[in-house]
Amino acid sequence: MGQATALSYTDKAGQLRLEGFLVDIAGVEATTDPIELKRNSRDYFWYSPILQQMLKDKVADIVVRPRDEAEVVRVARACFKHRVALTVRGGATGNYGQCVPLDGGVVLDMAKLDRIEWQKPGLVRVQAGAKLFDIDAATRPNGFELRMHPSTKRASQIGGFVAGGSGGVGSVTFGGMREPGNIVAARIVTVEEEPRIIELRGDAAQKISRAYGTTGIITVLEMPLAPAQAWIDVIVTFDDFIEAVRFGQTIAMADGIVKKLLSPVQWPAPQHFTAFRPYIPDGKSVLNAMIGDMSMESFETLLGATSGTITYKAASEDILGKTPLYEHAWNHTTLQMLKGDRGVTYLQCLYPHDRLVESVAEVGAKFGDEVLQHLEFIRLNGYMTASGIPIVRYSTPERLYEIMAGYEACGIMIANPHVVTLEDGSRYKRVDADQLGFKHEVDPLGLLNPGKMRSFVAEAI
Ligand SMILES: Cc1cc2nc3c(=O)[nH]c(=O)nc-3n(C[C@H](O)[C@H](O)[C@H](O)COP(=O)(O)OP(=O)(O)OC[C@H]3O[C@@H](n4cnc5c(N)ncnc54)[C@H](O)[C@@H]3O)c2cc1C
Repeated sequence: MGQATALSYTDKAGQLRLEGFLVDIAGVEATTDPIELKRNSRDYFWYSPILQQMLKDKVADIVVRPRDEAEVVRVARACFKHRVALTVRGGATGNYGQCVPLDGGVVLDMAKLDRIEWQKPGLVRVQAGAKLFDIDAATRPNGFELRMHPSTKRASQIGGFVAGGSGGVGSVTFGGMREPGNIVAARIVTVEEEPRIIELRGDAAQKISRAYGTTGIITVLEMPLAPAQAWIDVIVTFDDFIEAVRFGQTIAMADGIVKKLLSPVQWPAPQHFTAFRPYIPDGKSVLNAMIGDMSMESFETLLGATSGTITYKAASEDILGKTPLYEHAWNHTTLQMLKGDRGVTYLQCLYPHDRLVESVAEVGAKFGDEVLQHLEFIRLNGYMTASGIPIVRYSTPERLYEIMAGYEACGIMIANPHVVTLEDGSRYKRVDADQLGFKHEVDPLGLLNPGKMRSFVAEAI
């Protein structure tokens, strides 16, 4: 952690810094109301019993709500001048305390920067605080939609998804956010004596991808779009989970079939899918899918070679007030289960593409009902594979780590979701070198989201 944030805001010197900070941002909406501070210092870290203990008492000293980029610059300048930590907050749906202010200081709420600047065929330029749901609602009438979105589409912001997410519904076709071409450009504000506004284009935009807001405050993004499809939501039920995985893989590999979601979930997790429970007979594992209308016939033909049964098939209606099928995929699967059973937690993993089904069977045999398997088919570096968000019956941290080791022994990579740093949560156990170098340029004092990039050593003040 950088030296710049070593001082506690509760001591006299810390208080003086905050008072000076407030004077310098006069006119920008800000609050120190304790209830607001508490509410704006949390995300979905409570999924993890380990993070719940670690983060439950972390709280900001001020919440600031800029209206435009000029106000973001003022806040960044004042944070630098007074050496105040600055943690950016989007929709706050992250799972690892990404927007929790570990060192207190300022929480910068981006919700008011929500304007779509322009759109043209295949491309949209949008302020970082725009919700993904609103972006899709604006582009679909013009025949385009976001290439991918997390299952938290209704609550999360595009800036939060790019800075904190990895991929989601759509990644079965377009890969994760990190695939070249999935972010066209990002405009950021630096935290320096005189903050700069930098436009990162093409590959350079990856410097802010999943960096937890440690490498600049994103104010605008240019994102590529996909042709909008008439999606069909489908639930296919199977007696045998492995057969659901095999069929998911068949559809994933069928390049002619247009798809957005292929999500096999092992029974009994689907018994918690309340909105779709009437379509899921007891004891059945499911494949939740979103298939292009024009591909349904081919989908059903391939299904004919299996013992799977379609129990639900309807046009995808992404409207408020109706629970979408995609809220039973990705990390919503865990959430649906947690609603009825607080004794579980989860892991994140990546299956080997060349022995995917075998590795699923191996960990299944190893852990039985202690770990319910849930896969998401994705493209990764040109290969078709699956990430996984298994649901774990929680007992102790030690057992959780044993299960992770058991997964790794089967050749399945773990990205640990029970830690707060980029390095420890990464599949590669290190921070992206480009991002680390770039951080020195844009945040030399380490004021941005301190504690999240542990390889970074700040300049002395
Ligand atoms: C039920 C559930 C399901 C989920 N499903 C998925 C999924 O399918 N795929 C997936 O990838 N993730 C998923 N997540 C995690 C999370 O919802 C997504 O990553 C989401 O896109 C985060 O967006 P947000 O606006 O809520 O960001 P936040 O949680 O507010 O922030 C995430 C990170 O980005 C930083 N940040 C936010 N805005 C900016 C900005 N403008 N500039 C710089 N940094 C910024 C924050 O500081 C933080 O570090 C899920 C979480 C839950 C609880």
